[in-house]
Amino acid sequence: MHPATALPTVSPAAGARGAPAVQLVDVTRTYTVGPVVVPALRGVSLALPAGSFTAIMGPSGSGKSTLLACAAGLDTPTSGRVVVGGVETTRMSADALTRFRREHVGFVFQSYNLVGHLTVAENLVLPLLLAGRRAEPVRVEAALAAVGLLGLERRRPGELSGGQAQRVAIARALLARPTVLLADEPTGALDSRTGAEVLAVLRRLAAESGQTVVLVTHDPAVAAAADAVLFLADGRLVDRLDAPTAATVADRMRGLGR
Ligand code: ADP
Repeated sequence: MHPATALPTVSPAAGARGAPAVQLVDVTRTYTVGPVVVPALRGVSLALPAGSFTAIMGPSGSGKSTLLACAAGLDTPTSGRVVVGGVETTRMSADALTRFRREHVGFVFQSYNLVGHLTVAENLVLPLLLAGRRAEPVRVEAALAAVGLLGLERRRPGELSGGQAQRVAIARALLARPTVLLADEPTGALDSRTGAEVLAVLRRLAAESGQTVVLVTHDPAVAAAADAVLFLADGRLVDRLDAPTAATVADRMRGLGR
């Protein structure tokens, strides 16, 4: 058995929380660039319980971003299955997947990707409007409250700090009440104090609202904010750490040759 398949859950409380929010079953992803075949993921299996906060770590090129993109339905595995909220996304047509992602997957990038001439509230509802759907003001309020930015609806991105801008991006990702919130290096552009502010928001979302959160990082101090850390090396899940601290995460990373 591959070591990764021995990771049925990443949280000790998983059993109590019911079906996983996100499940990957023997996922491989191979990129072919001309004559070169690059195996980015080599049989990754995991199950993330609803309400869990998981960090994915690993050396550069170990497959972290590919794993997140496959979980999000932004990339399609070469083989294996991805199941989000009990629904297999790997069987969907491109159109169905786009609709599914809109409803069930929130994604946050390192860069906030806010539209500069729109207000905070307008930025929040833009994805819904582009999808031809109505945005209820009460939902905008709830999403801003969840990230601690109530009252900033009319500000423009240029009038926000980096930490506030990233929290707006998180609020935008939360608007559809997604099954999972995925974040790729969400604090990568922030100093450590504002980064900590954003991590506190993600922690609170998981702990108090039951929002499933997954983040990719290369920073042990960031990973330590999660309930559990999964370690990737060379496209495989090779280790896992519960109740991480920056020191224990850094120690495991050294074990992976970092
Ligand atoms: P990480 O996020 O851990 O740095 P990635 O998931 O970005 O790792 O990449 C894993 C491997 O897949 C690397 O060897 C990378 O070069 C390769 N890879 C990622 N995306 C592509 C792509 N679009 N085309 C070709 N190779 C890619």
